[in-house]
Amino acid sequence: SLYLKKIEIHGFKSFADKTEIEFEKGVTGIVGPNGSGKSNISDAVRWVLGEQSAKTLRGSRMEDIIFAGTTQRKPLGMAEVSLTLDNESNKLGVDFSEVTVTRRVYRSGESEYYINKSLCRLKDIKEIFMDTGVGVDGYSIIGQGKIDDILNNKSGNRRILFEEAAGIVKYRNRKEESEKK
Ligand code: ATP
Ligand code: MG
Repeated sequence: SLYLKKIEIHGFKSFADKTEIEFEKGVTGIVGPNGSGKSNISDAVRWVLGEQSAKTLRGSRMEDIIFAGTTQRKPLGMAEVSLTLDNESNKLGVDFSEVTVTRRVYRSGESEYYINKSLCRLKDIKEIFMDTGVGVDGYSIIGQGKIDDILNNKSGNRRILFEEAAGIVKYRNRKEESEKK
């Protein structure tokens, strides 16, 4: 099945040093004292999947996700996060047994996205995760308040969730794209 093998974080929030987190099959818990960076890891995952809202990432501007420096250490100019997923069963519909998606941002602004080290568009990242549940609008990350949102069904987001699980988002998107033409 589709599962997360590795996260690499460099320059993202508190992760000034390049940090690799490898996951085995099964359940992994991340523990640590308050402020040690646990939530920053889930922010990093959201970000690489294409999150555009600084607020969702608990900042006020996108630049806030770049390591801001400490009394001991200079700020960094760049943040980079990579996720490596197992794709043995080709759930992602691309011909690689492993897929690494990367996002990089400089203080000057624009993000760069990569799939297996080839520059791509955010659209490409969204497309490979569409209908897998993994994407930034999927259900792989259930943040605080998300369950309430789904139960209350404000703005019809419950339907979006079921469409993702049923694997029909790509068909709805194609229909919408063809209607635009
Ligand atoms: P809790 O148990 O309280 O939820 P946590 O382990 O989830 O804690 P995080 O919220 O992940 O902690 O990490 C917060 C820390 O990250 C704070 O110390 C904050 O200063 C640091 N941090 C956030 N953004 C940056 C940044 N751009 N540069 C440097 N450090 C940052
Ligand atoms: Mg936290």
